[in-house]
Amino acid sequence: MTNKTQFTVGKEPFYQAQGDEVQLYEAAYAARLPVMVKGPTGCGKSRFIEYMAWKLNKPLITVACNEDMTASDLVGRYLLDANGTRWLDGPLTTAARIGAICYLDEVVEARQDTTVVIHPLTDHRRTLPLDKKGELIEAHPDFQLVISYNPGYQNLMKDLKQSTKQRFTAFEFDYPTAELEADILSKETGLDVAICGKLVQIGQAARNLKGHGLDEGISTRLLVYAATLIKNGVDAKAACRMAMVRPITDDADIRDTLDHAIDASF
Ligand code: ADP
Repeated sequence: MTNKTQFTVGKEPFYQAQGDEVQLYEAAYAARLPVMVKGPTGCGKSRFIEYMAWKLNKPLITVACNEDMTASDLVGRYLLDANGTRWLDGPLTTAARIGAICYLDEVVEARQDTTVVIHPLTDHRRTLPLDKKGELIEAHPDFQLVISYNPGYQNLMKDLKQSTKQRFTAFEFDYPTAELEADILSKETGLDVAICGKLVQIGQAARNLKGHGLDEGISTRLLVYAATLIKNGVDAKAACRMAMVRPITDDADIRDTLDHAIDASF
């Protein structure tokens, strides 16, 4: 039997709420409704789920989905070892057995035939058929399914089917307001809030370039990286270039525009 404690979130994660999402999540969990969290990369989706798992005192099993992922990667498979074959539960199966919150991060990356395996877990059945093993698992009463995705990346080929979407309640996340974001950077890294405010200003300017040469704006995650570097003694301009500009663009014009914005701020 899997040890639950290895999946518990031991220490309270720092999470700055943006609205009433904490109360709404609690209501969804109380009814064991499946939850979807939408929003751009690095805006706090995973941190929110970690925080909720801690607050509700439930184990959390996170799966980073990718396009090579198969249903077996979620559900489990037979392994061959010296003693013959043995079954190994996948993360979704483990979560259903022990009563964890199962967080499928960037679920649209997974192939559609993979996402279908979650369907029976999301409705009144709350079951998971292990076809290869010939077993039907009834989800533990504490089990809950959570998925995240970034609607910005979607295209016709890669989108969740309506039949999947309509099994979830949803939160729409975005980058926090300037004041909240500066607060988050400061609390997360210990950097002076005034300097954090400058990082946020540059971040917000870059977000306006989305669709004009940038696919995605500078995420809160990257702003946290920059703040961390500055806090550790790196020159502010160098930190901003390294953490906020170089990762997001290969376009020389955009890079120069952002570098100028940094020079003007520091
Ligand atoms: P994603 O939306 O890609 O799941 P994360 O949840 O990993 O993003 O957030 C990236 C980082 O941004 C976190 O590690 C944390 O440092 C910071 N962050 C973003 N939003 C918040 C928030 N509301 N409260 C606390 N930290 C946040």
